[in-house]
Amino acid sequence: MPERYRNYLGGEWVEAAAGQTYERHNPADTRELVGLFPSSGPEDVRRALEAAAGAQPKWAGLSGPERGKYLHKTADVLERRLEEVARGLTQEEGKTIGEARGEVARGVTILRYYAGEGSRQVGEVIPSANPRTLLFTTRAPLGVVALITPWNFPIAIPVWKLAPALVYGNTVVLKPATLAPLTALRVAECFAEAGLPPGVLNIVTGSGSGIGRELVTHAYTRAVSFTGSNSVGKTIAQWAMERGIKYQLEMGGKNPVIVLGDADLPQAVELTVSGAMRSTGQKCTATSRAIVLEGIAKKFTDMVVERIKSLKLGPGADEATYLGPLVSEEQRRTVLEYIAVGESEGARLLCGGKVPSDAMYSHGYYVEPTVFTEVTPQMRIAQEEIFGPVLAIMVAQSLDQAIALANHSRFGLSASICTRDLNAALEFASRIEAGMVRVNGETAGVEPQAPFGGFKASSSYSREQGRAALEFFTQVKTVSIDRAGK
Ligand code: NAP
Ligand code: MG
Repeated sequence: MPERYRNYLGGEWVEAAAGQTYERHNPADTRELVGLFPSSGPEDVRRALEAAAGAQPKWAGLSGPERGKYLHKTADVLERRLEEVARGLTQEEGKTIGEARGEVARGVTILRYYAGEGSRQVGEVIPSANPRTLLFTTRAPLGVVALITPWNFPIAIPVWKLAPALVYGNTVVLKPATLAPLTALRVAECFAEAGLPPGVLNIVTGSGSGIGRELVTHAYTRAVSFTGSNSVGKTIAQWAMERGIKYQLEMGGKNPVIVLGDADLPQAVELTVSGAMRSTGQKCTATSRAIVLEGIAKKFTDMVVERIKSLKLGPGADEATYLGPLVSEEQRRTVLEYIAVGESEGARLLCGGKVPSDAMYSHGYYVEPTVFTEVTPQMRIAQEEIFGPVLAIMVAQSLDQAIALANHSRFGLSASICTRDLNAALEFASRIEAGMVRVNGETAGVEPQAPFGGFKASSSYSREQGRAALEFFTQVKTVSIDRAGK
């Protein structure tokens, strides 16, 4: 019998009101059923929001350190269950077990970081014009917060939203991606085991197009934090604007790495390949464009192709695998379409580009890691987010031209440069239009204690993680206290 999972509502595990479920299969081998998950409807969302609204005043009435204790306990439970949660993550999403372990460990780190935030300063004392007045700011929670998350980081993204939301006194309804509901429910199990009061965290699984609107437009929802595609993000922003609630969007990327002539080439190759192919290219911060100075372009390209040909494609559960399958049939179709577009636009396919033929791949959503060269800036494969294991190599004549090419994109999430030249690195850091900038590092690296977010179409100008989360999940209250009488 397949495992039948439930929503987490008001501290209880409940079926969808209509009793309906959907199946999620392992993308590495679709014969394997991960489980049955609630196909929730608007009624389930309303119940979750009611539970969250009911729990919020009492939760906000606890002190920050008291709320932090629940996060600390949850972190301990999650750490104890790390291996089991990581295995489930690989099974539902397809990334390698090593990456899944790393991501669960990151969830633990984020919980501990925000547990500590519960004890840190939230306001400041401001000198009043009146010497007898105490003038200060503090921060109030927003109330009930809706979180909508994508499938590609099934634990890191839900946790980096819900941990700050909770520690600053909000209650939460989370809708995880349809393709990766299991890991989010595991997080709820950890909170439940840690004794979180009922209704403080609620999770409702099911289709975004079916329940997203109710979640964002219901009167109880005071803010929405979304990570996902630009098209869905835009709709959510419109709903939020109409209602006058706070919103935050983290969306797509088309992230470049620039490789200068003085770069440490083996390092640049490794950073490029890892940035492009880890998680099968399905990271918002994945490297999708390598912009290389002409003098080293041939050598760099040869080295990248040689390295990519050596990568082991296979099921994520196999410890030796470097990249697993794509998350779904739809995602694979999109990636194959982009590969066909690249060829028809005149880019040169250097390796990959196909569904692997070996029988071991026949039940999963595999695509070979793919490299294009002779890519020009107008090509769709140079402009659009592919979200798969496809790298486009472009050649530049100078640092100036490389930066111009890198900035020639509607996106601006992350960018990196490989060089030993401090002046070039500083020039890049100041002129690149990206929220996350790295020198001799991979575009995909993120540290949870530092702000995260993009420029241009990649984000809504707000930032997540680190102390930046305080800005989104609270509102400032300015308090002035005078003495009674004289
Ligand atoms: P998506 O299709 O936009 O889905 C994201 C979430 O929105 C899912 O939970 C989805 O539910 C939900 N949703 C879909 N339609 C909705 C609607 N009409 N109303 C409300 N919610 C709705 O994105 P994805 O395919 O899961 O993820 C890939 C995208 O996320 C890429 O563009 C990637 O760049 C971006 N991403 C960005 C970041 C970042 O931090 N900048 C990080 C990771 C990923 P369903 O699953 O049921 O469709
Ligand atoms: Mg989608």
